Amino acid sequence: MDILTLNSKEKLGCKMCDRCCIYRGDIRLTPINVCKISKYLRISIKEFLKKYTERLENNKLEIVLKTVGNLKQCILYDEKNKKCKIHKVKPMQCVMFPLVPENLKRDYFYNSGECKLEEFKEIKVKKWLNGNNNIYSKNKKICMEWIDFLEEIQPKLNNISNEELEEFYKILFENYDIKKLNLKSQMRKNIKIVKEKLLNFV
Ligand code: SF4
Ligand code: SF4
Repeated sequence: MDILTLNSKEKLGCKMCDRCCIYRGDIRLTPINVCKISKYLRISIKEFLKKYTERLENNKLEIVLKTVGNLKQCILYDEKNKKCKIHKVKPMQCVMFPLVPENLKRDYFYNSGECKLEEFKEIKVKKWLNGNNNIYSKNKKICMEWIDFLEEIQPKLNNISNEELEEFYKILFENYDIKKLNLKSQMRKNIKIVKEKLLNFV
């Protein structure tokens, strides 16, 4: 497995098939994704969470996009037009595809090989990840903060009741004003609230 850095060159491209949107159920969402996608779809956060997401069984505060049908197609794939319904605000995992982080903190990746074609041109990994609007650079830090937070609290989650868990879920995913632009600071504030509450469950 070749490790790729941001400056590596790799044959990457997209021929608009649907391979990266089937056999899913593993597309994780940060609270920022939840806010941005809800806003994009013009629905409330609560409605979005209920209709489009589910909780990962083994990780009580992680959510993924639901899938539909035998092919486990991502619920946000537009079958008719063969495209992602939320392309502009799609989650980081989808932005990176077919690259997968080997170590996100250090910007190390590998090519999953799931859409490797000779016809694709070589481009810099950084360019692939950022697209036209710097999406990777703009969101990597907040993504890492969320991943680090989940790792930090994971051991403590076994000691809390389902009611407390539901309270934390609501704080972390629902306690936002999506009309405001400061979503990152809202997320940081919510993380702080949950961390403080968790201090009682050492
Ligand atoms: S990223 Fe790859 S798998 Fe996904 S639509 Fe494009 S070519 Fe197909
Ligand atoms: S969010 Fe979009 S790109 Fe990602 S799996 Fe779903 S339909 Fe595909």
